[in-house]
Amino acid sequence: MNILVTAGPTREYIDEIRFLTNPSSGKMGFISAEVFAGAGHKVTLISGPVSLTPPEGVECVPVETAGEMHKAVLKRFEYVDCVVMTAAVMDFRPKEKVAGKIRRGGGGFTLELVENPDILGELGQMHLEKILIGFALETDPPAGEAGEGRENARAKLEAKNLDLLVLNFPESFGADRTRFEILDRKGKWRPLGLIEKEELARILLKEIERLKAENA
Ligand code: C5P
Repeated sequence: MNILVTAGPTREYIDEIRFLTNPSSGKMGFISAEVFAGAGHKVTLISGPVSLTPPEGVECVPVETAGEMHKAVLKRFEYVDCVVMTAAVMDFRPKEKVAGKIRRGGGGFTLELVENPDILGELGQMHLEKILIGFALETDPPAGEAGEGRENARAKLEAKNLDLLVLNFPESFGADRTRFEILDRKGKWRPLGLIEKEELARILLKEIERLKAENA
């Protein structure tokens, strides 16, 4: 199979040297790319800025902004069987990038933000026969506890027309082990508890291979 994986954060520039971002380490995407390639699949890894070494045998495409990631994903979508979107894409960017460096002394300023494209949402709306897997980072507690994490995740899976959605929590940033729950199209939840990101990548690989066989 031809699998496209996205990883890491994006950077959205305020001026030439400052940007908005988030603490995504890229670990989930990089370990997924490594596991998928290790199983003999052709993997392209589109990644925002991270301090990880690209896995061997994987085509790596570095990007910085959500706009660049959007272009890089759309350019390759036609040729892939599956997209695993682990990237923590910034939802907003400054309306304008100021040339040079914004100087202090003016008593502060207001930053106007505009929405970035929802890359995975766009892929889902194309209704092509591709396997689409998203990640949802929710700040609410997981199943069994009070909170709207699961409900938000289910709404996302439907809105983005995904095959699978992995729910995780802010503790996941930079961690090797974290809590995950997987939701499928039928609305079935599979709580995985506290596991290594590598183990999740292996579970996702099995799911991707199963979905491919089902669609064949
Ligand atoms: O809606 P939310 O941002 O929670 O959805 C998360 C999923 O959507 C992730 O798989 C993420 O990579 C993807 N996403 C995207 N483009 C955005 C924001 C999120 O593809 N602008």
